[in-house]
Amino acid sequence: MSEILVLGDEALALGSIDAGLAVAYGYPGTPSTEIIEYIQGYIKSNETEIIARWCSNEKTAYEGSVGVSYAGKRTLVTMKHVGLNVAADAFMNSALIKINGGLVLAVADDPGMHSSQNEQDSRYFADFAGIPCLEPRNHQEAYDMTMEAYRISELFNIPVMIKLVTRLSHSRSVIKRVETLPITDLGKAADKLKWMALPSLSRTNWKDLIEKQKEFIEYSEKSDFNKLTLNSSYVETGIITTGLGSNYYLENAEDLESSLSHLHIGVYPVPVDKIRKLAASVESIIIIEEGYPFVERMLNGIINEAIKVHGKLDGTLPSSGELNPDNVRTAIGLKPREKQTGAGGDLPGRPPQLCAGCPHTDAFKALNEAIAGFSESIVTGDIGCYALGALPPHSAIETLLCMGASIGMARGASEAGRKHVVASIGDGTFMHSGITALIDAASTNTDMTLIIMDNSTTAMTGMQDTIMTSPMIKNLVIACGVDPEHLKELKVLPKNHEENFRIIKEEIEYEGLSVIITLRECIHVVGKIRGELK
Ligand code: SF4
Repeated sequence: MSEILVLGDEALALGSIDAGLAVAYGYPGTPSTEIIEYIQGYIKSNETEIIARWCSNEKTAYEGSVGVSYAGKRTLVTMKHVGLNVAADAFMNSALIKINGGLVLAVADDPGMHSSQNEQDSRYFADFAGIPCLEPRNHQEAYDMTMEAYRISELFNIPVMIKLVTRLSHSRSVIKRVETLPITDLGKAADKLKWMALPSLSRTNWKDLIEKQKEFIEYSEKSDFNKLTLNSSYVETGIITTGLGSNYYLENAEDLESSLSHLHIGVYPVPVDKIRKLAASVESIIIIEEGYPFVERMLNGIINEAIKVHGKLDGTLPSSGELNPDNVRTAIGLKPREKQTGAGGDLPGRPPQLCAGCPHTDAFKALNEAIAGFSESIVTGDIGCYALGALPPHSAIETLLCMGASIGMARGASEAGRKHVVASIGDGTFMHSGITALIDAASTNTDMTLIIMDNSTTAMTGMQDTIMTSPMIKNLVIACGVDPEHLKELKVLPKNHEENFRIIKEEIEYEGLSVIITLRECIHVVGKIRGELK
């Protein structure tokens, strides 16, 4: 057994490697990105047959992992919480098939929305699909639970979710590591009849999945990750924690006059008997869970109504944003600690900005000038660095919904009768999920202009390689049905500003679908290439 200092994401990656991982797929998204990056780094510095790849989007990544499982090897698929929306079709149906090689889905949620559009809690997705979910509260658990997830995935023939949150994904701690297992080929063929989502077969598989819930609950009741500690001499209040809520509670618990009965839940479905045992020992329960009030809402159907429940639903804890030691402290009835003022504590907020020298700056400048002459224009935006084009000084885009939405929204706005509609999207996001909306727009030659801002990387999540090179994207756009006469490539440099402005304006005026690809590498890609050339 060795010790190693790792990020939470890296602990999960190591847990996978040490459990006999064969293939990992993912789509980058904060705070999950470092999982695949760590495995890729591990592959470079160790002799191993493990494969770890970025995919076009979360759905293709998930489907890839399902294929690895079918072939009898262990697989990991990673994404951020909103990425699971994209993978949802494959994910939901995969709960009904009979997983062969262990399939672990790592999803990193982002309470507080440090780098996300929403705070959705992935435990609902696990519950919705009817699969087990493990929620680590520290780095060691991220490692241990990942190994355990492979075991139960193969035991129950089910995908297993591991749910991280930003504070765990992006903090470091020391973990104890066991010996690495060689890649495990289970050597058994998948049960083919259990892999066909035909309605006639799915009806049986659905019943099987419902039956399995009893086994999952039984497993959850026995799991050491769901730990109940009772104190029969103090009955006024008991505590339920989940995830990092446990750390914030324990940090404050020593200041309480009495130690409270405490149930920590790390494995779902929730351990119903353990919850009832806690409820039978106390008069009220404070529930401290990061994310939505998921367990809190379930308590109504599990415990006696006479037990008072305090948490996010009654305002004992804030219903949005992250938990922290301070808001948990007041929730358990302790006086707030004296406010600590330290270096940097009172600095004013700094809104994010495009980097100095960013190619998108020149693209937005040309677009803003081109569109200025049209009184009723709309510019839809998308997810990536260029979303910062919404903020001053650019103020170039008006909407931001989800990955790829700029194109579909522009099409809708145009068909609703608006003129001079422009969609702006990056190359990575275009390939992620913009391309299908472009096919829609091409099928009707919708009057709109699409600007693909090609910076040759997935910049926002840390310079991951994009799936296709710039020449390939051009061919792809033509293959989608776009008229080559109205496909323009612009090198976005200050010296080309006048020409770029003119071309963008002309294409916006054109009554039909036009696509402009703005070309210039992210300055960090240029820096990386220069560094490699030295
Ligand atoms: S990382 Fe690259 S693409 Fe993103 S803002 Fe900076 S220069 Fe622009």
